[in-house]
Amino acid sequence: MLVLVFAALADLADLALPQCCLGCGTRGPRLCETCLDPVPARRMPRPAPHGLPECWSAADYTGAVREAIVAYKERGQTTLARPLATALAFTACHALAYTAGHAVADRPATPVAVAVVPVPSARRALRARGHDPVGRLAALAVRQLAAFGHRAELWPALGQARQVGDQAGLSATQRAANLAASLRVTPAAQARPAASVLLVDDIVTTGSTLAEAARTLRVHGVDVLLAVTVAATRRRSCNPLRSH
Ligand SMILES: [Zn+2]
Repeated sequence: MLVLVFAALADLADLALPQCCLGCGTRGPRLCETCLDPVPARRMPRPAPHGLPECWSAADYTGAVREAIVAYKERGQTTLARPLATALAFTACHALAYTAGHAVADRPATPVAVAVVPVPSARRALRARGHDPVGRLAALAVRQLAAFGHRAELWPALGQARQVGDQAGLSATQRAANLAASLRVTPAAQARPAASVLLVDDIVTTGSTLAEAARTLRVHGVDVLLAVTVAATRRRSCNPLRSH
């Protein structure tokens, strides 16, 4: 409940203050279209951890996009949720079109039934931040996907099974060990959707978290079609499947 109150107050504060883009300083949205400029692409970590689904993202984790994600997650600037979620949904549409063999962005994608699963944050991080950044992005992205013509639903099927250590500074192998069996399926996952499952997160670095999330769902009998994030760090392979 406190998280919801904080988020509502943060929204009101954001609306009350004059705003400018944190990338270029132009008066208007906190992240203008020029600075966001999503380029949906398959961006895989290298090496990719075992079990990582096809991983698409909207942008590199640099510049204004990086600033926006940090401001949104760590400083509670929740007005950034909408542009970031739009970039996420836009990327998911491209990924779905590419996966279905329709690698064309200029025409409506074939409608797909998708269940969007947010990667859960650690309870400690949720308390410290006062909001659920990825959960909010996922909920907004569902609405955007529906606006793009897909049959999308939010399916919060994953929760934290235990506390994990700080991932910062760990190698890919250490991250995988740190995350092993750290997630669980929630009661909501008992009713499996008749839809393709999209895992969503804010950024992908080594891919360990997404791989663990996909593994947890797979044990539960659910395959993940795609993982989609707003941004990808540069620790990844080159991008032979760029869609435009
Ligand atoms: Zn800008």
